[in-house]
Amino acid sequence: MRTNQPQTIYLSEYQAPAYLVDHVSLRFELFEDGARVHSTLSMRRNPAAMQSGSTLELDGDSLTLESLALNGQSLASDEYRNEGDKLVVPTVPEAFELTVVTWIEPQNNTRLEGLYKSSGMFCTQCEAEGFRCITYYPDRPDVMARFQTRVEADKSAYPILLSNGNPVEQGDLENGRHFVTWEDPFPKPAYLFALVAGDLVEKRDTFTTCSGRNIDLRIYVEARNARKCDYAMDALKRSMRWDEEVYGREYDLDIFMIVAVDDFNMGAMENKGLNIFNSSCVLASQDTATDAAFQRIEAIVAHEYFHNWSGNRVTCRDWFQLSLKEGFTVFRDSQFSADMGSPTVKRIEDATLLRTAQFAEDAGPMAHPVRPASYMEISNFYTLTIYEKGAEVVRMIHNLLGAELFRKGSDLYFDRHDGQAVTTDDFVKAMEDASGRDLGQFRLWYEQAGTPVLAVSDHYDEVQGVYRLDIRQSVPDTPGQSGKKPQHIPFAIGLLDSEGQPLPLNMGAEDSNGSFERVLELTETQHSFEFHGVKERPVPSLLRDFSAPVRVHYPWTREQLLFLMSHDPDGFNRWDAGQKLAVDVIQSLVDAPQGTEIEPRLVEAYRLLLNDTELDQALVAKMLLLPSEAYLVELSDQADVPAIHAARERVLDHLARALRDDLLACYQRNAGQGDYELTPAAIARRSLRNTALAWLLHIDDEQGRALAVEQYEQADNMTDRLGALRALVNSGFESERTRALAAFFERFQDDPQVVELWFSVQASSDRAGQLPQIQALLEHPAFDWKNPNKVRSVVGVFAGQNLAAFHNPDGSGYRFLADQVCRLDDSNPQIAARLVSPLTRWKKFSPQYSSQMKAALERIRDKTELSRDVYEVVHKSLAD
Ligand SMILES: [Zn+2]
Repeated sequence: MRTNQPQTIYLSEYQAPAYLVDHVSLRFELFEDGARVHSTLSMRRNPAAMQSGSTLELDGDSLTLESLALNGQSLASDEYRNEGDKLVVPTVPEAFELTVVTWIEPQNNTRLEGLYKSSGMFCTQCEAEGFRCITYYPDRPDVMARFQTRVEADKSAYPILLSNGNPVEQGDLENGRHFVTWEDPFPKPAYLFALVAGDLVEKRDTFTTCSGRNIDLRIYVEARNARKCDYAMDALKRSMRWDEEVYGREYDLDIFMIVAVDDFNMGAMENKGLNIFNSSCVLASQDTATDAAFQRIEAIVAHEYFHNWSGNRVTCRDWFQLSLKEGFTVFRDSQFSADMGSPTVKRIEDATLLRTAQFAEDAGPMAHPVRPASYMEISNFYTLTIYEKGAEVVRMIHNLLGAELFRKGSDLYFDRHDGQAVTTDDFVKAMEDASGRDLGQFRLWYEQAGTPVLAVSDHYDEVQGVYRLDIRQSVPDTPGQSGKKPQHIPFAIGLLDSEGQPLPLNMGAEDSNGSFERVLELTETQHSFEFHGVKERPVPSLLRDFSAPVRVHYPWTREQLLFLMSHDPDGFNRWDAGQKLAVDVIQSLVDAPQGTEIEPRLVEAYRLLLNDTELDQALVAKMLLLPSEAYLVELSDQADVPAIHAARERVLDHLARALRDDLLACYQRNAGQGDYELTPAAIARRSLRNTALAWLLHIDDEQGRALAVEQYEQADNMTDRLGALRALVNSGFESERTRALAAFFERFQDDPQVVELWFSVQASSDRAGQLPQIQALLEHPAFDWKNPNKVRSVVGVFAGQNLAAFHNPDGSGYRFLADQVCRLDDSNPQIAARLVSPLTRWKKFSPQYSSQMKAALERIRDKTELSRDVYEVVHKSLAD
């Protein structure tokens, strides 16, 4: 595991496995001081394997081998080699049975990979390479086998024993122990294996599938969380119905289970029939979860459920194909969320994440294609590029084919590859075969890293009535890739006249198509598109609904942006025009002298928005949010974060003062009425109200202070209580801030998810989250280094969201992060590697900052005994 020179693994060196596993029989004996794992593998030579010879190699990590037998005959120590991470049997027959017994220590497993303990229960995380921490096995996704799993443990401490598939046998054993045997009829790769043993309560429900089968649904949680499962159960049933209706996918086993676990590296895991969730992604109640948390839970429950087809029934051939299951499944869950709520708002949220964080990744040292060509540690490739850009790539196929042909393509993909481990190319091929479209050039989206840039200019010929768009495409160089080819980009546009009316888009003198929106397909470096019969110079609406994950440069005037902000029929572009205008105003202040006037039209545009009760209020709530500091950093070269922070604060301050009465009116108008509801309208109302409150407190408004204190005390839901707390924490009202923080902790100290919110509200605040305060949070009794959620809510939030404090000119924030990474690397390298991320883009910042960020990376690099995870990120970041 620990090495100073990890190897790079290349897609080009892929070879089919030499041996296949038809069946796995597992028996787990679970004890307090360890676990014994008996594994019997029915194996045979793979007819498709290229290698000759009869050597068997199995993967293993941190295992103690107790015995090894081939066809029932014990192997002597000179009949195999234990090479640490490999178990090698030099000679095996064509078909054979291998029995392996290993001893492992889940109670000491702090990496949270393989089998480990969390809050006294046993649980697993095997993706990507955790199964090799349980037993020796060909731990690669293209080895798919049927699993039978018998779990044995003390009956009083672990009354619930779970694994994949259907339960087939259970009974009592000697010494107060018991067992349950599970059988999974569907072949699966080892990364989908799961086991849970604990003292849990269950919430049960049923679901009748489209063919009339009754499925037993269960959510397992610790007793204290019993009342926090309803929403996840409801989301699960809606997901199951939606996948039948939209994709024709029916659930296959008789039982579907979800288990909530407090200590978890990821969000959730789609193990066959037994999904394991980070508690924060499944548990929710009105008084402990925000609207955003409810929406996240709905999306993640759906995401993991959808994997049953896109990931489990059809899986990845190798880890380079990770986006095959993740990109497609993120696309599916975003369609689901759009159907459940406001499609425009969902699109804005997805595009915001993409443009802020994925574009940054795509422009940094860890940039990689949606299908990478190499990696050192696969855990580092669970990235926004694989997930979010991967989903955008699938969305573009959907847009190019249309919903009907896309469905034909997905049906063909599932039919053709059911039970197989395949590649992203197989996915695209199914889409091509079903639609008859050539996606040859489109495949570059999987192969080329970097965000394509579209430089757009326009020309209007008044005499001819012709409007022309000239579009030039380029794809920037990224590490290891230069001289890229133009990609196939769907570019959705519309044109508006001076009244805000859409113009018909006739693309030739003879064309009378008359449609008001078109998807232009860009395939060359340079394109010109002419629109005929245009009576006046139009205002273009470009890249509608964010039709491709690209950057668009067009010389927008503030007049055009203000016009689109109030007239564009495309909700996404309406929001985006407001963002562009705010970005332009903030950027113009970054280097401007003190006292420079702030664009008065920005104030008027926000006043209109604040008082607009006609427009979709969910959209208004999004439009009121100023672009984040992270986005502003992403858009700048040689970023000076404190200067960006100051400029943004100045604009916020100015808007809040100028619009004070409108904010108060907006706050009062959106006061809660009646019972708490999770409808898009109610969510929008709370969002507007809390934004208004935050702005009022930003300028230390006295009336705002009273409203915040009152809202904090009287809130009947977490969104409003947290909104009030956050507003107070970010205000200058120190005694109210202190009181509210103390009261909040006092009230919720027994609820880990709410304590995480309490940590993150402070860690993200430039008023309450300066470095000494962050260090104090790490000493707080509720903080726990072994719990990834706690680490993320303090260290991760400070470095990722509290940019002004993190980028302190004295470099203290960087040194602090480097120290925490080094500390965590010894116990949990996956989480440590993810924490490094804010330092990796050091080249993006102005020299004063970048040199200190680089020094912090070198401080990590020079630690003795660096994990492969952190090694890869740090060395790639420092490479030229
Ligand atoms: Zn997933």
